[in-house]
Amino acid sequence: MIPYSPPLADMRFALDELAGLPQIALLPGCEPASADLVDAVLEEAAKLARDVLAPLNDVGDRERARLENGVVRTPSGFKEAYRRYAEGGWNALPFEPAHGGQGLPVALSTAILEMWNSANMGFALCPLLNIGAVELLQAHGSDEQKQTYLAKMVSGEWTGTMNLTEPQAGSDVGALRTRAVREGDQYRIAGQKIFITYGDHDFTENIVHMVLARLPDAPPGTKGISLFLVPKFLVNPEGSLGARNDIRTVSLEHKLGIHASPTCVLAFGDNGGAVGWLVGEENRGIECMFTMMNSARLNVGLQTRLRPPAHPGQADRRDRRIADRPPSRRAPHAARHEGADRGDARPRLCHRRRDRPGPP
Ligand SMILES: Cc1cc2nc3c(=O)[nH]c(=O)nc-3n(C[C@H](O)[C@H](O)[C@H](O)COP(=O)(O)OP(=O)(O)OC[C@H]3O[C@@H](n4cnc5c(N)ncnc54)[C@H](O)[C@@H]3O)c2cc1C
Repeated sequence: MIPYSPPLADMRFALDELAGLPQIALLPGCEPASADLVDAVLEEAAKLARDVLAPLNDVGDRERARLENGVVRTPSGFKEAYRRYAEGGWNALPFEPAHGGQGLPVALSTAILEMWNSANMGFALCPLLNIGAVELLQAHGSDEQKQTYLAKMVSGEWTGTMNLTEPQAGSDVGALRTRAVREGDQYRIAGQKIFITYGDHDFTENIVHMVLARLPDAPPGTKGISLFLVPKFLVNPEGSLGARNDIRTVSLEHKLGIHASPTCVLAFGDNGGAVGWLVGEENRGIECMFTMMNSARLNVGLQTRLRPPAHPGQADRRDRRIADRPPSRRAPHAARHEGADRGDARPRLCHRRRDRPGPP
């Protein structure tokens, strides 16, 4: 197992000096983010990342997510880790209190999402997609959709997915063929989606799919795409789960890495059409989906700060070797690294930031 210990001092420095968290905490709605609370939140998140998620990384890689008799099973320990994640309130951190969120700044929740990704990317992809789905619904959902789905997705009791890609429609999203047919105030969805991250799993009872599809009379290309909310289980008026929707996991994609993350081929509507509800306006779906795509893009960016060194203790040994050498014998990149570690770079970074024109 490769251990992971979040670099809390560096994170705190980046949050305070580069992201301006103390100033953000003065903004209306961000008051809960006092310095003490930020410390406590970072330290507790570090424990979950270090003690629960990181040890499961190898397990996930070896065992992989599996499709058994049409049901996706995640690797040993992942479901329990997700329960601890959701019960710990981690999913709710940045969201609006009106829907059960904790209203903490996104800057803070982003640092914490970096910890989940660094500890165990196969696990972190589930919350990463759910965060985007929550942002999408907050921005574009109807009052009824928000009422029915948001609180459960904010708490992590249910998760959300993003369904754009089809065999003939990757970068060229406008080529998608999944169909949606009006049926009263709902729609019937039919088509195949591929590469759907956590398109099915055993973490939660329900999964809320955000699906791009095309109406029969839609114009061609991206101007004819609409967005639908399609739950794995339909939701009864009082909030309990109803019938299973017409969605089937056909297979799991084979990938070079992140084996724990079930990347699904999903068939919608093999048996008459999956029931879905329009989000936003007809033929304006791509605009709404961009809320989720942009969230995913930003948060996938955190994955560039992945694992610490390949061998435990390697960073310590490297740092000791650099420190033992006289400055004249240190490679330029080593000197830069050491300077940043010693804190010499901090005043310079802060100074440069203050000098920069425009908003902080
Ligand atoms: C691990 C993983 C998880 C994913 N999760 C999701 C998900 O949750 N939901 C979802 O909907 N999709 C998901 N995807 C799919 C992802 O969004 C697509 O892979 C992406 O949109 C690219 O499509 P494609 O793979 O078909 O590549 P293509 O579109 O076939 O592109 C292949 C290559 O050609 C280049 N290219 C394409 N068009 C042009 C052009 N016009 N000019 C020049 N170069 C071009 C591309 O840049 C790329 O390098 C996932 C993919 C992966 C690998």
